[in-house]
Parts: sequence; structure tokens; C-alpha cells
Amino acid sequence: MNDTEKVRWLFLDLNAYFASVEQQEIPALRGKPVAVVPMMADSTCCIAASYEAKAFGIRCGTLVREAKVLCPEIRLIEARHDLYVRYHHAIVDAVESCVPVAAVLSIDEMASQLLGSQKDIPNAQALAAKIKATIARQVGPYMKSSIGLAPNRFLAKLASDMQKPDGLTVIREMDLPHILYKLELRDLPGIGARMEKHLHEHGIYTMEELCRLSKAQTHAAWGGIVGEHFYAWLRGEVIRETPTQRRSISHSHVLEPEARTRTGAFKIAQKLVTNACIRLRKMDYWAGGLWVGVGFLGDHGWDNREGLDERQDTPTFLAALNRLWKTIPNERPIRVSAVLYPLIPRQRHTPSLFENPKQELLSKAMDQINARYGHYAAYYASLFDTKGKAPTRIAFTSIPDLSSEF
Ligand SMILES: [Mg+2]
Repeated sequence: MNDTEKVRWLFLDLNAYFASVEQQEIPALRGKPVAVVPMMADSTCCIAASYEAKAFGIRCGTLVREAKVLCPEIRLIEARHDLYVRYHHAIVDAVESCVPVAAVLSIDEMASQLLGSQKDIPNAQALAAKIKATIARQVGPYMKSSIGLAPNRFLAKLASDMQKPDGLTVIREMDLPHILYKLELRDLPGIGARMEKHLHEHGIYTMEELCRLSKAQTHAAWGGIVGEHFYAWLRGEVIRETPTQRRSISHSHVLEPEARTRTGAFKIAQKLVTNACIRLRKMDYWAGGLWVGVGFLGDHGWDNREGLDERQDTPTFLAALNRLWKTIPNERPIRVSAVLYPLIPRQRHTPSLFENPKQELLSKAMDQINARYGHYAAYYASLFDTKGKAPTRIAFTSIPDLSSEF
């Protein structure tokens, strides 16, 4: 078989994920318009809508007040994040019983690299059907997904978006680029409102116009190497990047007057460490230690560091913070800093004997929920009363970093 008729990646995206979990759990909701909401209030937004609700025009982001007008019989369900994380693990297990999962991109998205004869389209299609049947059998028949098969991960994700629900779409190298022409620029992962506007300023309004650009023009439109990556991805190429090496991640915060106590400073320190860990995972790094510093009234300070095995999960760093905090002098704190270092990129990471992959996956699933539904939709119990303090300055998107490999 000709290589241009092969696919190298499989991308799976669960359909209406949270609403489907609720329909799977509660038989009375099956076949009914269902919207999942963060809390029971008219002023909040739907965070998921079942396909029956979508038929009324209700989407993720629709105000509850509007949803009730569009569909008076809508069933509103308060989100149960623990349940969605539990289903996530069951789905990953189901997929892994068919093919190894190379990357979990969000709570309802994962990608697998195809090997050997799996790359032949009929085999890849059979594998996709097997994955769907395994999810139905092991997790539940209401957990539908759309699967994309393509020469690279970027295009496989696009393919998974092309047919919903319960879709299976193949993009072959020979279909490129015309198969992409029906898409909007905003359908591409990495093109948000700001990037779209920027492309408009370069005279690019359609996918066809984007695909016609030369490599140099794409580079110019993005103002950098990312443009060349898009150029390659749109042509089905697989690229591996060497991420720019970073040595540390640091967060610090000047305490509000009412928080200038040992306990107040500790709560902020917990939040700084939590945010630094979110960034660590987003950048796909591990860290080998935690440094904590506190500035006191009167221009002097204290700091301490604890070395750790290479880790990525939040609880490990919060536990280190706990131990370090016991050594802090009893003075009035005015500033807190937390630094994760040294950083180890994925290629150089050595998994430790004590590493708990479930813990890291849980941390990642929480990141995804928080990225999509606002910070601290899911959080560690000890952070309960720090919500809204030391706001993070990290810009989140619901798509993975473009620095990762597609
Ligand atoms: Mg989905």
C-alpha cells in the first residue's frame, strides 16, 4: 500500500462528555435534553449539553436563563467532577486495552500513535470500531465518541471534530489540503479569536487562503517558527520539536494586609505552589525540588528548599511546602514566593519508583476542568478559602500547548 494512504495517529474525542456521563449514570435522563451546570443558578452557564439539548440550540456556554427559554423542559444537572474523573480513567483503560494511549489531552480527549499494520486504513478503522465497542461494553453504551484518523496528531484531532456524534473520519495525505477547505480558521487548534484577527490583518480569511501560503509566508503570518509548524501539520508531516529549555518556574505574591499572618501567608503559598504545578504540567516538565521564600516586614527574609524525586503532581509539592513551612521564623510576612527547580523536560525525565501515574493523571484532569470552567472548579480541599486570592496570570486555553508534538 502506498504510504500516502496510511494514517499514523488516532484521536478520540468523547461526545457531550459530562452530559453523556449523566445519561449513562441516570437512566431517566437518556434521550432527554440535559445540561450540566457548575451550580444551580440562572446566571451561570451550561458547561455541557446532551445532543437532545443541542437540538434546541443549547451549547456549552449558553446561559442557564437562555437555556430555559430555548427548552423549558431542559433537565439541569449540577456537575459532579469526581464522577467525570472516574469515568475518564475507565475510558482510558478501555482504550488502552485496544491500543496504547500516547497522550491524554483533556478529560475527554486522547491520542494514540499507530504502529505497523495499524497504519493501513482498513485496520485503523477496525481498531476505531473496536475502541468504541470496548468503551460501550466496559464503561457504558451512552459514552459515544468521535474518532479521527490522520497522518499526524494535529490532523487527527481535526478529523475527530468533523463528524459528531459517534463519528469516524479519515484524513489521508492524498486528501490534503482540499479536505480542510470546509473548515473555519477558528476550527484549528491554536487559532483563537486573537490569532484569527491577526490572520485577517494578513488578508487570510479562509482555510484555502491559509493552505495556499508558502512556508515563509506562514512563518511571517505567525511571526515565528509556530507558523512553520502549522505549515507542516496542514501537510500531514510529523514534527518533533526540541522545547526551549527552562530552568525554573516561579510565582510570588505580595500579601494583602489582612493576609499578613503565618496562616494567611501559608494559604497563599499553597496557591502559588498549586499554580506553579499547573504550569509545570502544561509545559510538560518535571521538577526536582521546591524553594519557598518569605519576605518579612523590615526588609529581611527567609528561604528554604527541599529536593525531591522528579515529580509533576500537585500533592507531592504541597506536602514539601508543609514540611518547609515548619521551619519559618515567627515574624510578620509581607511577600511569599515559590519556585519549582530544577526543571526536567519529558525527554530527560526518569520515572521514579515512587511515582504514582494516577496521581499525575488526576492532577492533569483537574487542570483541564479548571481550564475549561474557570479556576478552582476542581481544587484541593486545603485551598478552599483561597479562591480569588493571588489570581493566576497564566492564560489557559482548552487546547494543549502548541509546543507539544502533533
Ligand atoms: Mg468532547
